[in-house]
Amino acid sequence: MYFKKLVFTFLLFASFLLNAQQKVVKTQEEWKKILTPNQYYILREKGTERATTGRYDQHFKKGIYQCAGCKTVLFSSIDKYDAHCGWPSFDRSLKGSIEEREDNRYGWKRTEVICSTCEGHLGHVFNDGPKNTTGKRYCINSAALEFEKKE
Ligand code: FE
Repeated sequence: MYFKKLVFTFLLFASFLLNAQQKVVKTQEEWKKILTPNQYYILREKGTERATTGRYDQHFKKGIYQCAGCKTVLFSSIDKYDAHCGWPSFDRSLKGSIEEREDNRYGWKRTEVICSTCEGHLGHVFNDGPKNTTGKRYCINSAALEFEKKE
């Protein structure tokens, strides 16, 4: 009985270690070298692209969306929907890939969404998403994403 418990604890710990994401940390200069000026503005300076100008706003191909900064897979096309807001919208993110933070900039209380691996700014999450699924709208900048086609 004791042995079983020990094995179980070990397996739990091992799986925790395997799942623990390696954080990506770079200096401003290093980010500037690998990102376009627009990607840098969005991801590292918490910028927002103008509505309807992003390449994934009206993009509904099957595949996955990675963080443009560190390539961590963040969203699936399965969860993408047209919110008619001018930015790519998802009703959920992939488990553990993003973090939410309180954002009170401009005297406006919002929830910021960042990549949990590189802490790049992705966009915001609002509670006006589809009622029949999660009710969430992850409103994400196209420039923060990189699409990869999957059949
Ligand atoms: Fe990232």
